[in-house]
Parts: sequence; C-alpha cells; structure tokens
Amino acid sequence: MLNVYPVLCRAGSMDNYCYIIQDEATKIAAVVDSSEPAVIIAKCQELGIVPQYILNTHHHFDHTDGNIELKEYFGAKVVGNGNDRERIPGIDIEVYPEGTFALGESVAEIIDVSAHTQGHILWYFSKDKVVFTGDTLFNLSIGGLFEGDAAQMFEALQVIKSLPDDVLFYPGHEYTAHGAGFAQHVARNKEAITAYLTKAATRLNAGLPAGPFTLGEEKACNPYLMAESLAEFSRLF
Ligand code: ZN
Ligand code: FE
Repeated sequence: MLNVYPVLCRAGSMDNYCYIIQDEATKIAAVVDSSEPAVIIAKCQELGIVPQYILNTHHHFDHTDGNIELKEYFGAKVVGNGNDRERIPGIDIEVYPEGTFALGESVAEIIDVSAHTQGHILWYFSKDKVVFTGDTLFNLSIGGLFEGDAAQMFEALQVIKSLPDDVLFYPGHEYTAHGAGFAQHVARNKEAITAYLTKAATRLNAGLPAGPFTLGEEKACNPYLMAESLAEFSRLF
C-alpha cells in the first residue's frame, strides 16, 4: 500500500501540489515534484519521514526547482525521465517510458504523456490505484500546451482514459476552482458535476485539497476527457 500526503506549495500564487509518498510495507518514501523545499521539509518532519527519492513528472521549474536543496537535505536521489535528463536539475536515476520504478513494494509504471512538455511522464502505481499526473491532468481541466499540440495532448489523455475508473489521481496544481465554471457550462451529466463540485467545496472549506478524485469521476466531469475525437477536443481551445 502507498500512503500519499499532499503538500500545497507556492500557496496563493501557483498553488503547486507536491506529494510525500511512503510505501507502507517498507517505509521507503519519496517526494513527487519539488516546488517549495522549506514547506516540503516541514511536512516531512511533521510526518517523521525521510524521503530517499525525488520523483519528477516534468522539467518545469515549479516542479523541479527544489530538487537540489531536497536532495542535499535528505541525501535523496532525483529520479526523472532519462529522455529529458538535460532539463531535470540534479537527476541521479533515469527512468524511461514503459519502464518501472520500485519504491519498496509499491511499483510505479512510467507512462509518457508528452504534450504539456516533451518528456512529461505519469507515475502510475497500478497495484495501489494511484497516479500522479503532474501538469497533464488537473481537476476539471488540463495543463497548457507549452511544447506539444492538441493532437499530442488528445493522445496523452486517451492513455489516461484507458486507466481503470477506480484509480485516484493526484494533479500538480490546485486548479479546481479555475476549471469548475467551464466544466459546469459544458456538462452533459449535471448530477455528476454537482456531486463533484460539492465534494470539492467540502474539502476545500475544511482546508484540504479538493481531490483526490477517481479517474471515473474525472471521466464523467472533465470536459477534456469527455471529448471523444480530436475534432471535438480541438474545439475546447
Ligand atoms: Zn508544468
Ligand atoms: Fe506546473
């Protein structure tokens, strides 16, 4: 089993989520993305966790600019997509799409979803039913097309859609409020979106992240996942 502890970083500006994760069986831990080292270090101390790895979803600074500091502080190793090694600060261990990475007994499948950036990967812990989607999939929206086009993003989203409905996904930012208006506007299933937004509001009001949502919930409510063809998807921009 994999325990997941979200850490809101750059709160009020970029609202990044980094995640402290720990394999229950072996207690081996990692940080997924590194945004604001002081905040991540404080949360690790509170939890009594010393991460051995920093896992990156993609090269953008708001996901990697804590790599060096966290690596030095914890003696951790930075793990990222070998195909993007030049842009991942402090990379020590290269993983590749279609490969795996073992965090103790929790094993992540590395899945290429290049579009937001070239070399963006998902960390999919299939047995644990958890996927870290970085800046590819957010609650009710998706990441911007910085280095890819709509066709490439559509392909990436089809890969995410192919994962089981009961998988919980953990995005790289708290952008639920930002995606909510458009999702409501284009919703086909009004009951699903109402239930989604009620759940999100309840958690946010309690000072918690809006998520995690399951991919099933997301498939029913996220306009970008609901698009069934590239033509339909392209009309959303
Ligand atoms: Zn990004
Ligand atoms: Fe980002």
